[in-house]
Amino acid sequence: MPSTETTPRTIPVPARRVPVAYDADVVVVGAGPGGFAAALKAAREGARVVIVERFDMPGGVHTSGLQGSANIGVGGIHTELMERFAAAGYIYTVTHETLPDWAGNPLSHYERNHKPDAPFTRPSFNPEGAGSLMATMLKEAGVTALYGTSFVDAIVEDDVGDGTISAIIVENASGLQAITGKIFIEGSGTAQLAAAAGVPFVRGGGAQPTGSDWDGVERPIPGGLLWIMSGIDFRKTAAHQKSANDPRLSKLIAEADAAGDIPKGLYRPRMKGDNVYGDLYIGHPTLDMSPMLADGTFILWQNVPYEWALRMDENANDETLARRELRGFIDAEARFLKKYVPGFENSVLMDVGRFVGIRDGRHPIGEYVFSIEDGRKGHTFRDAVTRPMTKTFYWDNHAKYTFQVPFRCFLPKKVKNLLLTGASLSFTYDTIFMVMRNFPWCTQTGEIAGFAAAQCIGKNISPKELEWTTPYF
Ligand SMILES: Cc1cc2nc3c(=O)[nH]c(=O)nc-3n(C[C@H](O)[C@H](O)[C@H](O)COP(=O)(O)OP(=O)(O)OC[C@H]3O[C@@H](n4cnc5c(N)ncnc54)[C@H](O)[C@@H]3O)c2cc1C
Repeated sequence: MPSTETTPRTIPVPARRVPVAYDADVVVVGAGPGGFAAALKAAREGARVVIVERFDMPGGVHTSGLQGSANIGVGGIHTELMERFAAAGYIYTVTHETLPDWAGNPLSHYERNHKPDAPFTRPSFNPEGAGSLMATMLKEAGVTALYGTSFVDAIVEDDVGDGTISAIIVENASGLQAITGKIFIEGSGTAQLAAAAGVPFVRGGGAQPTGSDWDGVERPIPGGLLWIMSGIDFRKTAAHQKSANDPRLSKLIAEADAAGDIPKGLYRPRMKGDNVYGDLYIGHPTLDMSPMLADGTFILWQNVPYEWALRMDENANDETLARRELRGFIDAEARFLKKYVPGFENSVLMDVGRFVGIRDGRHPIGEYVFSIEDGRKGHTFRDAVTRPMTKTFYWDNHAKYTFQVPFRCFLPKKVKNLLLTGASLSFTYDTIFMVMRNFPWCTQTGEIAGFAAAQCIGKNISPKELEWTTPYF
């Protein structure tokens, strides 16, 4: 039984010596798009790199989590990835010609707001194939990649002022091991290394809903588990949506609900409001899918109900509950679709992501915290990492803003030799969530961090001493 005491009991853990399994110039924790690109770039610049990843391949949410949305290359490693995925036959693309009735369809995750029959192109990559290829790329670059290896803790030498990480402790088939290094890179997606090293952070959950929908409990933006279903005849589904005048399948959902075939919480009404907790986003409470991998195969979103207020990055019970209940929802959803929805008669549940992705975990505080206003006001910086970038701000009616991001967002407070990447950059939660968390940008941030780390190794300086004057991208 979990302890219910308000002051948890503690027991002493006997001091023990842990073998130093590796010594590296650059040590990366987590091999999502951020950590992967950081390790690859640093190794290609000549650094000795070790990366640890708890699963069996790099790619994070986009491979182990199955979120294989492909994009046009934005340069550097991201373009290389898109080209290599394509050359390996891992890109699958549908268009208005190959998937009629998809544009403007309310079941479509990405194309639902298109006009019916509007032209579109939706590429995706095969997460399993992509992950294997990314592992090959790390191997080719000479990176020591440890899979099935979990980051456990950071050893920090406490200098006056900022600390210096001297080693990380990991756990894998060999037991507990230490990995020493000069520069460390945060790639866990939830700032685990930064938090363990003493970097101050803001917990997930920013501005909450306004109005009567909010019960006063502060919650993070919900995370989610992605899954894949194959054997779907979508033409038949679309024909049914039209003939039964049931575009959202609400009638079938109501029928299944009345028969007790749908668990409470599987499909939920959207909240009202204009921010992430409102109409725009509350964790996709309805049926949401996107074509992927092959004809008749779709990826589906199963998100944590917002009401559950789970903090999966800091509470094992919350993570367990999410894993168990979302798998239950997926099983129920697959059975509902197969039993009730025309076109799904021969469908099969094919794959479920290896983890429930966290959208709004810890946000480390760096030497600069980039806010949504920096984007809106088009701020530029002397230490910009890219030339001015133009991004769409969904909150602002899809307005486009052009701005830069300073290198100081990669430099966490309180620790000298740590660089941030991906979803763990020093950004406010709304900036990360609404504009700056996609696969291309997270890959770019990793490449920038890897480049910076290699520069620091070459010059024998810490990242905070690196004079950053020229945009990388
Ligand atoms: C459910 C969901 C859906 C999303 N949908 C989209 C989308 O449609 N399009 C889009 O572009 N972006 C999407 N995103 C956002 C995007 O996936 C993330 O912002 C991005 O993957 C973050 O990259 P990262 O490298 O920082 O972290 P992650 O991708 O989270 O990778 C972190 C890696 O670190 C590893 N790791 C974590 N802890 C440890 C540990 N203790 N020890 C060892 N390894 C560890 C993980 O296994 C993982 O491989 C989505 C995110 C989620 C959660």
